[in-house]
Amino acid sequence: MNINYILSKSKDGNILSREELIYLLGLSPDSVETYMVMAEANRVSKELSDGKAEVHAQFAVNIAPCNCGCLFCSFAKINGVFTQSTELSPEQAISYARQFEIDGANAIFMMSTAQYPFEKFLEISKEVKNSLKATTTLIANVGDQSLSNAVKLKEAGFTGVYHALRLREGIDTYLSLEARKQSILNFKEAGLEVGTCVEPIGAEHSNQELADMIEFTASINPAFSGAARRISIPNTAIAKRGMISELRMAQIVAVTRLGMPRSVKGNCTHEPCSLGAIAGANLFWAEVGANPRDIEAKTEDGRGETVKSCCTIFQESNWEVLSGKSCYYNHK
Ligand code: SF4
Repeated sequence: MNINYILSKSKDGNILSREELIYLLGLSPDSVETYMVMAEANRVSKELSDGKAEVHAQFAVNIAPCNCGCLFCSFAKINGVFTQSTELSPEQAISYARQFEIDGANAIFMMSTAQYPFEKFLEISKEVKNSLKATTTLIANVGDQSLSNAVKLKEAGFTGVYHALRLREGIDTYLSLEARKQSILNFKEAGLEVGTCVEPIGAEHSNQELADMIEFTASINPAFSGAARRISIPNTAIAKRGMISELRMAQIVAVTRLGMPRSVKGNCTHEPCSLGAIAGANLFWAEVGANPRDIEAKTEDGRGETVKSCCTIFQESNWEVLSGKSCYYNHK
């Protein structure tokens, strides 16, 4: 394969084939060719988002040991990180959401662990929605849902959801691949826009697996796709498999961009970093409260970035940041 041919295909507006994605993923992360791929992905992302990146901000309504067994998650009961359940009061949830709004987040994400009672999530969501400006974009990050629950999320005022088919779903998690896919279909049928990602990437994932997941995310025409590495939770079995470098993650985020149709404007990476931004990531997350990649109950005391720090990373990487509501969501 020829790198110049592949990049010219992208410049002509074409989506790369699975074989081409695998070829690009197989290049050395610090090769000239990978830097060319990153530059092309940056060019495409800037063209699609008019040079304006976005910062979305997430808070969790609860922490609880979860029975879904996702090996990479600090909430998973099997990892033994969090043994007690706590949840936010509606006032605390409103306070987090309003602060994000004041900070200028382009979308606000409300997350719960998968087994948090859905009706309770809806109740607190409605209170949060009523406390925010009508123009603020609210996104749900919850477990698998039926079509009727997806409709309830839409009726509660959510614009969209975040939902991912995770790498090795059903092997490194107790969840079913089909249930994850069906939930995505349910969300879309209910009129919710779906943001997703190739995640959580570890050292063990092959280029073929990554290419297959890039193609899956492309197939659902999401609000955004992207790539995020797995953060090792200390003393867990999966931590022994190793973490990829930020540079490798940047390479994958660039290749993901080139595997997406141009209708997908957003290309996320997590955790925020300038290497990702120069490789075509135009979406970062700020986080407060519980975070499945952190062992601190309040991630603002740990790994979590703020809206301001995300903006700074983008600006240092030669990106402007959008002011106002998300264009990745709200694009219908
Ligand atoms: S990722 Fe979600 S479903 Fe999996 S263990 Fe964590 S909270 Fe539960």
